[in-house]
Amino acid sequence: MTAPPFTHPFDDDKLHEECGVFGIFGHHDSAAHTTLGLHALQHRGQGSAGIVTFDGTHYHSHRSLGLVGDNFSSASVINRLKGHAAIGHNRYATTGETVLRNVQPLFAEFAFGGLAIAHNGNLTNSVTLRDRLVKRGCLFQSTTDTEVIVHLIATSPHATVVDRMADALNQVTGAFSMIALSNDSLIGVRDPKGVRPLVLGILEGATILTSETCALDILGAEFVRDVEPGEIVVINDDGITSLRPFRDTSSRFCIFEYVYFSRPDSHVEGLSVYEVRKRIGAELSRESGVDADIVVPVPDSGVASAIGYAREAELPFEIGIIRNHYVGRTFIEPTDQIRHLGVKLKHNANAASLTGKRIVLIDDSIVRGTTATKIVEMVRGAGATEVHMRIACPPTAHSCFYGVDTPSRDKLLAAQHDVAGMADYIGVDSLAFLSIDGLYRAVGGHRRNDEAPQYCDACFTGDYPIPLIDREGGTDRRQLSLLSESE
Ligand code: SF4
Repeated sequence: MTAPPFTHPFDDDKLHEECGVFGIFGHHDSAAHTTLGLHALQHRGQGSAGIVTFDGTHYHSHRSLGLVGDNFSSASVINRLKGHAAIGHNRYATTGETVLRNVQPLFAEFAFGGLAIAHNGNLTNSVTLRDRLVKRGCLFQSTTDTEVIVHLIATSPHATVVDRMADALNQVTGAFSMIALSNDSLIGVRDPKGVRPLVLGILEGATILTSETCALDILGAEFVRDVEPGEIVVINDDGITSLRPFRDTSSRFCIFEYVYFSRPDSHVEGLSVYEVRKRIGAELSRESGVDADIVVPVPDSGVASAIGYAREAELPFEIGIIRNHYVGRTFIEPTDQIRHLGVKLKHNANAASLTGKRIVLIDDSIVRGTTATKIVEMVRGAGATEVHMRIACPPTAHSCFYGVDTPSRDKLLAAQHDVAGMADYIGVDSLAFLSIDGLYRAVGGHRRNDEAPQYCDACFTGDYPIPLIDREGGTDRRQLSLLSESE
């Protein structure tokens, strides 16, 4: 068994959603509502947060590294963000990109006026387009793919902001759920495959666009509908207009949103995330049940699946691991000694429920295997006599290129080992993953069946529904700037 690779002691070894977006039009208190919306979406990105408002004459912006609560809690910040319309963005910054110039919403002044843009997703031809734009003389200020769209809008020959956006987005490939704020409109767009979520809601005559319904719930707003794949919605004083400027709009929503990314209290694409996770647990139990005494979730994301598994298996559900929600990545320095303690500070075994028990341990996924290895060691140390791990999705053997931070393939445990090898690596008595067909059953689908809803499942199957232009053309690279900046 090789030693686990280095990870930060508080890294929970998950795939990380890179962004959440929130926008509101027609509310006198737009900045405060956007702040609350971003709070609800904090799980989608913890690296930075930003809000841009428009008061009818001027735009106002506040963008910071760190959490929403750390940067938008003071009245002076909120009061400065005047206006009846606002958009906001949470971002999970990947290594080397945690710099203020990359914090969204991006804002630019065009011939037609101002425009702020917030983007959830990832373009797969942004490097190719960026190289072309730089050769034409465009000057880039950030290293985000979103800025490519800004330049495509600026150089578009069309007259209106919406026509320019449609023209720009017809030139990009990839996943994008995007909101934009212009002088007269809030605009929302989903890419033609609808990979990332975007929903429409209303509150006291104001209209909201946001990544998840949980952000509507905390405001008391009403869910209206999902923005559809390939749809542009334009919200202004005339009401809501829907446009469909893209050609191929067959839906391939990210199936991992149900497994892990979305909050369990959200509804995405018409389904309750919590109910889907319980069905995932029931499918797991039917597919790979095992003799055991109790079912234990790895909190928090394994909880709903563990409830579903326990009910189906008719086994007791027990809280065998307690998670400390207050541990931050910058709490202490990652020295060798502290690295050992790190997982225990975030997760601690509850010996009272584990001692002498054969446990089924439910987690949502295994990425590098680092946290799973330590948690298994921890529950054995607390007295569990057998540990049977069950995972709420198929093995994650491929990287995501559609807006999720994934390690390169050589770091993914499932790309390096078969299931038996993975079980050996993390030290369990048995290990099983939900099958891809089981996952489709849990979301009410049937894989590659035109009669049923279809999803992106590329991180499990390697079947990428949107071409990876930069990778295929050899232009995929992370280093996009000559400037090195400190955090
Ligand atoms: Fe979601 Fe995986 Fe597809 Fe990425 S590759 S969009 S994480 S299903």
